[in-house]
Amino acid sequence: MSERVVIITGGSRGLGADLVRSFLESGDKVATCSRSGSPFLDGLAADQSLAPRFFSSVVDICDREAVESFVGEVNQRWGAPDVLVNNAGVAREGVLGLMGSDDIDTVIDLNLKGTLHISRAAVRKMLTAGSGRIINISSVVGISGYQGLSVYSATKAGLDGMTRSLARELGPRGITVNSVAPGYLTTEMSHGLTDTQLEQIRRRTPLGRLGSPADVSSAVQFLASDAGTFITGHVLVMDGGLTA
Ligand code: NAP
Repeated sequence: MSERVVIITGGSRGLGADLVRSFLESGDKVATCSRSGSPFLDGLAADQSLAPRFFSSVVDICDREAVESFVGEVNQRWGAPDVLVNNAGVAREGVLGLMGSDDIDTVIDLNLKGTLHISRAAVRKMLTAGSGRIINISSVVGISGYQGLSVYSATKAGLDGMTRSLARELGPRGITVNSVAPGYLTTEMSHGLTDTQLEQIRRRTPLGRLGSPADVSSAVQFLASDAGTFITGHVLVMDGGLTA
């Protein structure tokens, strides 16, 4: 496959930035969105050689109209998306009994509702094209659970449910849908974990370390590649054996 049209949500930093890097290195056309810019995105925008095959937009994925026009813009520039990576996500830590309603809404609005809305917009284009790959970044905590992450875990388990249902719905139309469920990664999202929690995770992980964004990008690339053609409805756990 060459010059795929790839949408990656939340590409300004962390895993999303590595996914953007990885697909640009593969020669693809990459569009990303986030609520704010970043030095990483500024660097790519300043590289004139990338101008024909990269753009980023300021979009809040919780804003349905903004999501529709972002996907519309991608389609107008390059045609239907071949790959959608639903990477943007947010976590709010805290025991449920003490969690504010706004925090619950923030996590559900982005991780579940926002992901469903941008997927719907992309699916409509993919159906017309008769092909596509959707890859949802969920999390091992949606499978194993983690104290203080019940809302986040609910959304990630929900994403895996979406993956399985959408895979059944879209398989006959040539579109595959999979999840990649990482363990703990060395990104900003894990900065809230204490040293004791990080040490405990390392100790319990057979491979003895946290995952890197590049570990996850490789799995996403695999699912988006020709090698992943017959894989759909699958949740690929990438956690160094933590939940083995
Ligand atoms: P991160 O460093 O916090 O980055 C999140 C990205 O999403 C940023 O680009 C952020 O940009 C964007 N974003 C957040 N809210 C948004 C919104 N409403 N609309 C549009 N973009 C939004 O997170 P990460 O660690 O890279 O995580 C990436 C994905 O992996 C998430 O789905 C996360 O749940 C999952 N994951 C992470 C870990 C981990 O340990 N880090 C483990 C398992 C799974 P703006 O803030 O500018 O909008």
